[in-house]
Amino acid sequence: MVESFPNSSGTPILEDLVATITENRSYLSEVDGAIGDGDHGINMAKGFKLTKERMSGEESLSDGLKLLGKTLMEEIGGAMGPLYGSVFRAMARACKDVDEIDAEVFEQMLAGAYEKIQDLGEAKVGDKTLVDTLDPALVAFREARESGKSFADALSAMVEAAEKGKESTKELVAKKGRAARLGERSKGVLDAGATSCWLILDSLAKSMRKLLA
Ligand code: ADP
Ligand code: MG
Repeated sequence: MVESFPNSSGTPILEDLVATITENRSYLSEVDGAIGDGDHGINMAKGFKLTKERMSGEESLSDGLKLLGKTLMEEIGGAMGPLYGSVFRAMARACKDVDEIDAEVFEQMLAGAYEKIQDLGEAKVGDKTLVDTLDPALVAFREARESGKSFADALSAMVEAAEKGKESTKELVAKKGRAARLGERSKGVLDAGATSCWLILDSLAKSMRKLLA
């Protein structure tokens, strides 16, 4: 077990992420279809696939995340293009001039993502958005790191919290985005953005744990 990996070894992390979103295209659209317009998986898969096509295959983690952010911002529709686009750009900025990604850097990446989504979307925990996944994920990662857990174990703690957060959206009433128009009727199903955010964090954690092994 090591406690960091080189920023320059980022390409497999990005490739795994593209594969995760592509594989879950139908699932994410199905989740969005219950209380939204059913385009979340289509939008996301389109942006991630385009990013893959634009990659040279030798990207660092920061360069790959920057490209992903730019592509999502410029090329995909829906609420999530600009939101996720900015999130990935913020993550890229937090590791831009860093040679080795360790737990401290990754925490800054998560914190950067969180600040950005709050800035732009103004959603709080409980509003049935991806914030319900990202907030507990960041808290769990930070707590694990502060209590002396390894980077790999902190990633596992993050994913566990992210999954619980995602599941919590089932019982919530949507306060933001398209689903908010349904009011109480938005209860009983998962939020699409919270689901994709959990898939993204789970994929990042799996790929990073491979590099830390
Ligand atoms: P659209 O709603 O335009 O069809 P998507 O289907 O791609 O866009 O994304 C829907 C998701 O966007 C929701 O599930 C929710 O998680 C997220 N979302 C919507 N509005 C906000 C917001 N203001 N802040 C954070 N997330 C939001
Ligand atoms: Mg939608």
